[in-house]
Amino acid sequence: MSRERRSFLSLGAALGAAGLAGCAAPVPAPGAAQPTGAPALPRPGPGLARLPLGRWTVSSVSDGSFEMPLREGFVRNAPLGQVQAALRDAGLPTDRISIPLSALLVDTGANRVLIDAGTGGFGAPTSGRLLVHLEGAGVDPASIDTVLISHFHGDHINGLRDRQGNAVFPKARVLVPAAEWNWWMDDARMNAAPIAQRGAFTAVRRVFAPMAASVERFVPGRELLPGITAVAAYGHTPGHTMFMLTEGGQRLLYWGDLTNVAALFVRNPDWAVSFDMDADAARRTRRRVMEMAVAEGLLVAGFHLPRPGVGRLERRGRGYDFAPLSG
Ligand SMILES: [Zn+2]
Repeated sequence: MSRERRSFLSLGAALGAAGLAGCAAPVPAPGAAQPTGAPALPRPGPGLARLPLGRWTVSSVSDGSFEMPLREGFVRNAPLGQVQAALRDAGLPTDRISIPLSALLVDTGANRVLIDAGTGGFGAPTSGRLLVHLEGAGVDPASIDTVLISHFHGDHINGLRDRQGNAVFPKARVLVPAAEWNWWMDDARMNAAPIAQRGAFTAVRRVFAPMAASVERFVPGRELLPGITAVAAYGHTPGHTMFMLTEGGQRLLYWGDLTNVAALFVRNPDWAVSFDMDADAARRTRRRVMEMAVAEGLLVAGFHLPRPGVGRLERRGRGYDFAPLSG
């Protein structure tokens, strides 16, 4: 039995009703009954797991994964041998990397909120599953009234707009970090970037230019919706932002891309994934947030954490372990 699995069983016992409802067993509806007019709660099933947070229902929705060969440089500041050893220690293959992708859906009764929008089929063929999983759970994209974006990397924003140019969540307000908007939408910065890096700027414009007049830009540090507060976590990107969910005395921190593969970057918070744009700032932010998550016993969710993408942190040596919640 792996270390994670052990942690996870003890967590399940400790959490009781707060365990995640996975695909297998039918579960009672978490939280209070939905108010009249609120959409029916998502059904747990393949690619969607849910848990109660006070009277809310939080669902982790898989967008699939990215699969790639492991190469020197995936971790910028550790030799390949050490990276392979960390993967081996976690019982994972050492010749390739699997990066899970999971957005978060929050049903508050008053709002249905999607946090991060997935790849939208613009990524690898192993990704782009978000809509299929939402629809399989009975969630109509038009029932989502708010989309919160953590940062502007393609796996988090491309799912907002389809290939025909239509908004995928047609009735949703879209809220983005102002610092992220200002950085990526700066044409002078795009034009000064090496050609190889301009694709990321182009993707941002494909998604956001048609909604430039309506997209809402927020400054972190304030409540965006009742119980949902934006928290700055700059480093991975210039405006990378987390969301703290607080309801009924429970808290869950969605940390976006604070870490990539947990077996590498939760275990070794000082390691920098090649996608971290400011590796030093990202490392400091990671250390600070993880220490807070342990000290305060927070539930954490992350876009690249192992399925079901929600769990808790435990200290281990100079790093941490991520213990996913069980179904
Ligand atoms: Zn990402």
